[in-house]
Amino acid sequence: MPEMEKKVLVFRVPEYDQNLMDEKVEEIFSRLPAARELNPGTRVLIKPNLLAKHPPEHGVTTHPAVVLGVIRACKRRGVPAEQITVADSSGGLYNPALMKGVYQASGLWQVCQEEGVECYTQCRYEAKRGEGKLVHQFNLIQPVLEADFIIDLPKMKTHVMTGYTGAVKNLFGCIPGLQKAELHTRFPKKEAFGHMLVDLLELVKPQMAILDGILAQEGDGPAGGTPRKVGLLMASQDLPALDLATCRLIGLDPMEVPYLWAAHERGLCPAAFDPVCLDGEREAFDEIKDYRLPSSYGTGRGSDLDFARYQKLPGFMKKGIKKLEELAAPRPVIRRDRCIGCGKCAEICPGHTIRVEGKAKIDPKGCIRCFCCHEMCPVKAIDVKQIKLFKL
Ligand code: SF4
Ligand code: SF4
Repeated sequence: MPEMEKKVLVFRVPEYDQNLMDEKVEEIFSRLPAARELNPGTRVLIKPNLLAKHPPEHGVTTHPAVVLGVIRACKRRGVPAEQITVADSSGGLYNPALMKGVYQASGLWQVCQEEGVECYTQCRYEAKRGEGKLVHQFNLIQPVLEADFIIDLPKMKTHVMTGYTGAVKNLFGCIPGLQKAELHTRFPKKEAFGHMLVDLLELVKPQMAILDGILAQEGDGPAGGTPRKVGLLMASQDLPALDLATCRLIGLDPMEVPYLWAAHERGLCPAAFDPVCLDGEREAFDEIKDYRLPSSYGTGRGSDLDFARYQKLPGFMKKGIKKLEELAAPRPVIRRDRCIGCGKCAEICPGHTIRVEGKAKIDPKGCIRCFCCHEMCPVKAIDVKQIKLFKL
């Protein structure tokens, strides 16, 4: 990849002020060479993070001001409104009524209406073959297949399963509805899950990503954490590089993030971010010392991510460590006082291990610790807990 394509641009955007947003998004478009491909004939897909039905102030979904800034920048390059589509598949079921509700709650529906841009609710999908390491064919939502130019708009968030969720992980929303849960079942181990996401990245190949790090999320994200003002808009044509940069910013080891580890294994990125790749308002990139990481992060227990630490040990020792990890792995625990019995966790659970009889109950035997239930619970009634005895 030529030099500029590996660059990570960083800009200070303290608030969702539309004028400032438009200015910074325009600067991103003018600096990233890929944007020169945009012309009146280009079909553009804008892929936000719309995990579930959340208003912008929760810091869970890509803010409408970012989406509007990107629509305007595309239009300035001659792309007509009818060739721009905003599309995502949230967690849970994938149907027109549910998707419309998610777009409306996030504020994207209103922006698209005003701009004459389609918010995709038809919920069609098709298979696309690739040459992945683990997955040779993915079902993808239709706008992904029809676009000539994909702009990925992730949100800066921590994640209880993968540590961090950014540009690469945001592509998981190209998989329709509950088929995401099926992929969790097929790839319950983090290494394989990471490689699956990299296969998806290689198939979807967005031309650029712009990260909404203005109101981010810390702690037990991607939905159960706490909103955190960071005030940054970051962008790159190289999605793993953008994620490496964000990991550095929030003090998270990228090799603990399954998909970044997998990308590194495949020679797609280094093991850590090199600040020489920074561009834009470089002085805005101050590492954050007190960013709260997920409670499941950094212990390696129950994960298969202790590659660096354990790879060289003899087999019998690895087995023992794995057993300990298994016992002390972080697990989802229902807070009965908060549970409203809505059943969203049971609907998405790939292990089919949640029953809802008034309140939800998890049978730990079938749990693969994907934490989809934690992501989808609308009232933060699912905690992530670990047995303290094993905390090193
Ligand atoms: S109980 Fe939660 S973490 Fe366990 S498999 Fe089901 S959705 Fe995943
Ligand atoms: S735990 Fe959350 S998602 Fe599950 S039934 Fe209770 S309120 Fe609904």
